[in-house]
Amino acid sequence: MPVTYDGSLYPCTQFIGDPEYKLGNVFNGLDNEKVKKLIQKSSMPDECLNCDLKNRCTNSCGCMNRLETGNENHVSPMQCAYEQILINIVDELAEHLIKIDEKRFLKKFVNK
Ligand code: SF4
Repeated sequence: MPVTYDGSLYPCTQFIGDPEYKLGNVFNGLDNEKVKKLIQKSSMPDECLNCDLKNRCTNSCGCMNRLETGNENHVSPMQCAYEQILINIVDELAEHLIKIDEKRFLKKFVNK
């Protein structure tokens, strides 16, 4: 949680200066109503609802979405392409590691 020079608290650096996202300050604490409202906001962009990758993707990072599209609930085409490429690379790496030592892979990443 970033703290600005005047002690204001925001949920992320992307939201600094936006009064809607100022959640309080270090002197008086958090505004619990604003925190509650923020928690209740939907974090799944509409364009991702039917995507098979939606639970493996960082599509719900409102900070990144806001930086790239100006809207925390909208994913940019660049971010979407990046996520698909990254997930594909991760899957290929996992297949490679399973071939090397399946038992160790499962212990480390599946049966923690
Ligand atoms: S890959 Fe693209 S469409 Fe799918 S969940 Fe991620 S951002 Fe959304």
